[in-house]
Amino acid sequence: MARQDKPAGTPDQREVNRQQVVAVIRGAGQIARIDIARETGVSPATVTAITSELISAGLVEEVAPEEDRETSGRGRPRVALRVRGAAHLVAGVKVSFRTLSLVLIDFDGTTLAEHEATLSEPQVSPDALIAEIRSALDEITAKIGRTTADISGLGVGLPGTIDALEGFVHWSPSITERNICLRDRLEKALPMAVFLDNDANLVAKAEQLFGEARGVSDFIVITIEQGVGMGIVIDGKVYRGTRGCGAEFGHTKVHLDGALCRCGQRGCLEAYVSDYALLREADVSLPSNANASRSERLEALFVAAREGNHTAHTILNRASRMFALGLANIVNIFDPKLIILSGERMSRDFLYSDEVIAAMRDEVVQVDAPPPEVRIHKWGDSMWAKGAAAYAMEGVTALAVRRLAIHA
Ligand SMILES: [Zn+2]
Repeated sequence: MARQDKPAGTPDQREVNRQQVVAVIRGAGQIARIDIARETGVSPATVTAITSELISAGLVEEVAPEEDRETSGRGRPRVALRVRGAAHLVAGVKVSFRTLSLVLIDFDGTTLAEHEATLSEPQVSPDALIAEIRSALDEITAKIGRTTADISGLGVGLPGTIDALEGFVHWSPSITERNICLRDRLEKALPMAVFLDNDANLVAKAEQLFGEARGVSDFIVITIEQGVGMGIVIDGKVYRGTRGCGAEFGHTKVHLDGALCRCGQRGCLEAYVSDYALLREADVSLPSNANASRSERLEALFVAAREGNHTAHTILNRASRMFALGLANIVNIFDPKLIILSGERMSRDFLYSDEVIAAMRDEVVQVDAPPPEVRIHKWGDSMWAKGAAAYAMEGVTALAVRRLAIHA
């Protein structure tokens, strides 16, 4: 069976119901008990029993009814329930090229603080990364007068191939070592539960909880950063493959015996659209300042293309066509309702263009039904971190509800 984002173990029906009730309350913001029963299919009597457990555990609270809203003519206004924000403090961290982006949220998802720290090197040892995360957590909690010890759960998003259920990093461009159980090492060094996942999966989680995919059960998120990532959501759950190595959109093949990729294989999409692929082409044919940094050389390429330099234009055009081909392959396999192109860098506009989407539509299986909707969502690093925090919040909720079951 495919691994999906469910906590381990075989919870009994009561626990499944508890988890469902919390999820419905969180999704609704505020909701009356009778509506929880309707949405979950759990009997009203069981909902009443479960919600009183949740209230006495401090996870959920009652909201005073508003007299004159939608209640006139229907008798007594109904008491609604909501998740209690103060119940838990949750942190999310996104590790990217030379940067740690952090966010602190409370249990109802409200952002309390954001923080950015610079990594000493683009690729660090696991111990150095843990130390940097620890000191960044100390800094962000200090901003709101709390300490790292107050955090109940930490979500960590990393680029690379990550086995989320095991908290295991097969490989990440941000870490010098392969095959490490980073979650266990983080949990040894930090006083909270840690939830680790591939960063693109966390963007999918963020899109699902508070982005473009609210209310959509089948969608795909493509992220463009240093590399090209993908998060697949099927039936509302992140699909991770059997080894946690799925959704490697960047290493799907778009060319037989094609350009050499960082991963050692040939013809991968990344070997045409990533930063290093663009620079490889630019370095061959465009004049450049030998002292310029990678990002300066890349920026020079984008500027040259905008100013009408033919060679620069053909480099970006080729990357765009390869990207459209990759997208068409994804549509032909998954037939999702929605594709979200999710990124933060305006300089990547050539990949988000109408031409790319039109080229993708030309290459998908043609039927008498509209092709999937494509939405473009540009957001900053803090939103990646927010996805990590959202993932941790799910984990903290599952643990808190399980604890309730043990004490029941
Ligand atoms: Zn590759």
